[in-house]
Amino acid sequence: LAEAIEHEIDPPASILSTEEIERFQLETDLLLAWEHQEFELFYQPLVSLEDGATIGFEALVRWQHPTRGCISPAVFIPCAEKIGSIDQLGLWVLHQACSQLKVWQEQFPQKPPLTVSVNVSSVQLSQSDLPDRIREICKDTGIAPGSLRLEITESSSIENSERAMTSLEQLKAMGIQLYLDDFGTGYSSLSRLQDLRVDVLKIDRSFVSQKKWEVIWSIILLAESLGLEVIAEGVETTDDLEKLRLLGCKRVQGFLFSEPINAQEATDWIGTPFA
Ligand code: C2E
Ligand code: CA
Ligand code: CA
Ligand code: CA
Repeated sequence: LAEAIEHEIDPPASILSTEEIERFQLETDLLLAWEHQEFELFYQPLVSLEDGATIGFEALVRWQHPTRGCISPAVFIPCAEKIGSIDQLGLWVLHQACSQLKVWQEQFPQKPPLTVSVNVSSVQLSQSDLPDRIREICKDTGIAPGSLRLEITESSSIENSERAMTSLEQLKAMGIQLYLDDFGTGYSSLSRLQDLRVDVLKIDRSFVSQKKWEVIWSIILLAESLGLEVIAEGVETTDDLEKLRLLGCKRVQGFLFSEPINAQEATDWIGTPFA
């Protein structure tokens, strides 16, 4: 027993793999990150190919770790889901993004108004009273729900969760647009696409980077026939841009225009649109 207790308190390295120790450390740090205010929201412009105007921004969260530098959300979001802090983090992201959008809409009035899109994980969608909280956030920050977009990914946990599907219905009814992120990489069948009631398909950046133009073209045709818009992600070269333009893609996002940037840089960006 003494040995077991000892292991509980101070497990020798041989019991936990290096990977497990690292994950445990990350989880502990993530809990502290909240107190230390180590999160920051970055923004990546969404550009219209018709006139080069910035339509809005995608909000992307950053974690500035005190010793490890910037940690990718692809790493810490799943971790936050696991330890149960994704609700808190997700609501912070939504609030932050909406208040920033309010500032921009007042500083740069344009028609149609600037928008912000926020990534929402399936865990968030199925756990909390998300629609009510988002309604409060819109009211608090003074932005119209019509200016907010939520990016969701195809996942079985959304489609098999009644709670999540009801939430999506309620969010739609509030006037919030839904973007289906990473489209083409998910597992779901085309017949479920209409059940999700999304407005926009975001073509996954792997298709652009691998120059799978036939796939992209068929996604654009599919979207057209369903009355949906498309946004191409991960546009890095002018060649890609020209190809997408020829295929009829009207909105794009990618390093060619801008990487995700902080709020100040994004403010400067709106003043000088991509030509
Ligand atoms: P995502 O939603 O697919 O976001 C796009 C990712 O692609 C971002 O990575 C962005 O920096 C990157 N990207 C944009 N343009 C280009 C390009 O031209 N080339 C290349 N190579 N990459 C490009 P990031 O910011 O590291 O985010 C990774 C993922 O983390 C996101 O993928 C999203 O799934 C998740 N995430 C980020 N912020 C949040 C958040 O606030 N909440 C939730 N639930 N998930 C988030
Ligand atoms: Ca996204
Ligand atoms: Ca994406
Ligand atoms: Ca992704």
